[in-house]
Amino acid sequence: MSDREFKNPFQDYDESLEVFDFETNRLIDQIEGPLKENVFVLLQTLEKHLAAESTTSDTSVYTGTSGIALLYMRFMDIKLCSGKKDFLKDALSYVEPYITFLRKRDVTFLCGVSGPMAIASALFHRKGMTRESMDLARRLENLEREACASECPDELLYGRVGFLYSLLFLNKHLGADEFRDNIIKEVIKTIFESGQRLAKKFSNTDKAPLFYEWHGSPYVGAAHGFAGILYMLLQAKEYLTSEQITDLVKPSIDWILSLQYPSGNFPSSLGSKTDKLIHWCHGAPGVVHLLLLAYETFHEEKYLEASKQCSDVVWKRGLLRKGYGICHGVAGNGYTHLRLFQVTKDVKYLWRAVKFAEWCFDYGKHGCRTPDRPLSLFEGFAGTIYYLLDLLEPLNAAFPAFQLF
Ligand SMILES: [Zn+2]
Repeated sequence: MSDREFKNPFQDYDESLEVFDFETNRLIDQIEGPLKENVFVLLQTLEKHLAAESTTSDTSVYTGTSGIALLYMRFMDIKLCSGKKDFLKDALSYVEPYITFLRKRDVTFLCGVSGPMAIASALFHRKGMTRESMDLARRLENLEREACASECPDELLYGRVGFLYSLLFLNKHLGADEFRDNIIKEVIKTIFESGQRLAKKFSNTDKAPLFYEWHGSPYVGAAHGFAGILYMLLQAKEYLTSEQITDLVKPSIDWILSLQYPSGNFPSSLGSKTDKLIHWCHGAPGVVHLLLLAYETFHEEKYLEASKQCSDVVWKRGLLRKGYGICHGVAGNGYTHLRLFQVTKDVKYLWRAVKFAEWCFDYGKHGCRTPDRPLSLFEGFAGTIYYLLDLLEPLNAAFPAFQLF
């Protein structure tokens, strides 16, 4: 145990424990009841704090208003919560007032302007405001030039795959169309060209045909590195040729896989020898999403075995002193187990996901640091609620702003 995490106090799964009913696809009552209760208790607290907070200068999904909108949007789809509140109205109230003021800066879903646009477009679509929805979608798509410009990085938080996610999000909520398809292909082409150019530049082509860096550092994890980029490309695989998948993406994943520490964790960047960070942004909780999608795509056991090791190390070292958030906290780490359950249907992993949720019931009582944006989706409270809410429908859960579902 290090000073980064708490010792996991929970008993691991054994076969005498009941967790899930596969007939109804629901958690057993003794788990589902308290989970649902906590979701609404925490939501009430969040709403009280949000009402008292005057500043709305941050419109991002990561730390700002549209992250709150995304949380309310998720409530709309959870059957156990239907009719509790007008979640569509709540969601719109956190994004609609700001969309006219969005100025071009970063183009990504999480930290840039395309996230608020994509969320508002999806919400308008649900409300039957088709024209407003389409206008926003086109405004978003027009950011293609910025996303394909040479100075734009490739990573998720500030770069091209973060823009690609917004386009795929629109596809999911509005349905695909030819105009957007062409933009998606153009962005993907730029990401491949960039990766192949950098692989040559750093003479890495014997290890992997694609190479990426952010601010001069070759990060490995989901937020800034290879895992986030390759994962988004693989989620867009219907736009990739089979050669791109087998000759470029797969060997690059295999190379990342070779970097796994004996503990099951992954380095935060290439050359790093310190097995420290167990975060979604850096380490196994981010890379596991790539490995599991690789397993579902290529059906090779090695990806699943490595994913199970990710869950083991997150179970052991994932109750972070940094707090309960999505990006570098317990909620984001909980998705490691939840995703393994979805792929394997092994309730051992759902049990682990539930225990991480139960840890979050005691939000703020473990003496963790308070994040800079304590209410936000990726650093704070809203993200913890998102995780607990998602767990109410474990088979439909998806890591927000990252996993398409
Ligand atoms: Zn983080």
